[in-house]
Amino acid sequence: MSTTETETSPEDLAADVSVDVAVIGAGPIGLEVAAALRRAGQDTLNVDRGPIGSQIVDFPPATRWFSGPERIAIAGVPLETTSQEKATREEYLAYLRMVVRLLELPVRTFETVDSVDRSSEGFVLHTRTLAGLDRTIRARTLVLAVGGTASHRRLGIPGEDLPHVRNEVGDPHWGHGRRVLVVGGRNSAADSAIRLWRAGASVTISYRGTEVYPRIKYWIRPELIACIRSGLIEARFGTVPEEITPSGVRLREVDGGGTSFVPADDVLLQIGYAADGAIFESIGCRLEGDDRAVVHDPETMETSVPGVHVAGTAVAGTQGRFQVYIENSHVHADRIAAALTGAAPPPNPELPELPEA
Ligand SMILES: Cc1cc2nc3c(=O)[nH]c(=O)nc-3n(C[C@H](O)[C@H](O)[C@H](O)COP(=O)(O)OP(=O)(O)OC[C@H]3O[C@@H](n4cnc5c(N)ncnc54)[C@H](O)[C@@H]3O)c2cc1C
Repeated sequence: MSTTETETSPEDLAADVSVDVAVIGAGPIGLEVAAALRRAGQDTLNVDRGPIGSQIVDFPPATRWFSGPERIAIAGVPLETTSQEKATREEYLAYLRMVVRLLELPVRTFETVDSVDRSSEGFVLHTRTLAGLDRTIRARTLVLAVGGTASHRRLGIPGEDLPHVRNEVGDPHWGHGRRVLVVGGRNSAADSAIRLWRAGASVTISYRGTEVYPRIKYWIRPELIACIRSGLIEARFGTVPEEITPSGVRLREVDGGGTSFVPADDVLLQIGYAADGAIFESIGCRLEGDDRAVVHDPETMETSVPGVHVAGTAVAGTQGRFQVYIENSHVHADRIAAALTGAAPPPNPELPELPEA
């Protein structure tokens, strides 16, 4: 082990551990896998480069899930909401913290897995803490529950890296008194546009589709349509950004028509995420297709590398439209636990009608 520190404290040395199963990722499914494995008698450790549920931390405050609480509850622990409505971001994060405490799941947060080596006993994970300490985790089996939202999709146009271009809305408070161009037409873009307008922004949406996307959350869509019809939010349908400048955005009509310039103080890109397959490839796991989905055995979730399993949204690589998400990933935990203990794989669950993220 090497560190950039001149001294390594006893706590840091003790931080190099051996476990049966290392789970990379402490999102909902990484935690659910750990819970299933511990029930099956395995010693586990989750390691995450952020806090637990870090993807959800990035949701704007008070965002409601589109799934009912019972569908995103993990490890058999009920999720109750104060309103009996769909859970908010805050309720779900509190729930995840509670699950970790209740089930006593060992988790290391703010520790990134930089690389993985093979050893005679399995795998050695080389990690780095937020403060820059290097650590190792030895494990017989590895589960990658690393999600599919490592980075934001890019438009690939001039001006995209200017400082007033954002990918996350965060707390919409910043929009007060600003002219904001929101790019995108799905749930996140629609939700952000309405919330920014309510926070006092003057909002324009640029969306390549010719009308409001039909599969937006049923409680957001009518509101967005009403805002557009009454002129509270301006919609430029059938357009894509061509260039972002410090004073606005040049939009091009997708049907081959002309261009127009929309003055904007801020540009919010809500065009989806891209997965990072690098960690899979570094271990030798096969990825396939344009989405770079992880090749795996659907009964055991084992990848093309023996001893390396995949769980959660990571399975699907980059998802243009969420097809794999929490609701239909719960079974991954039981499949991996069954595979490791030699039990029969669980039956395929009856999948609910899949809404869209
Ligand atoms: C706006 C939005 C709304 C959504 N609504 C719903 C919904 O209503 N219902 C539903 O079922 N799903 C929904 N989803 C999808 C859901 O949030 C994700 O599917 C869920 O977070 C996936 O869980 P996961 O455990 O597979 O991955 P993630 O939650 O993405 O967790 C992966 C974790 O791995 C960590 N990680 C990655 N690489 C490393 C590394 N090298 N070292 C250490 N840690 C690493 C990351 O920090 C992250 O915490 C929504 C998604 C979005 C974006």
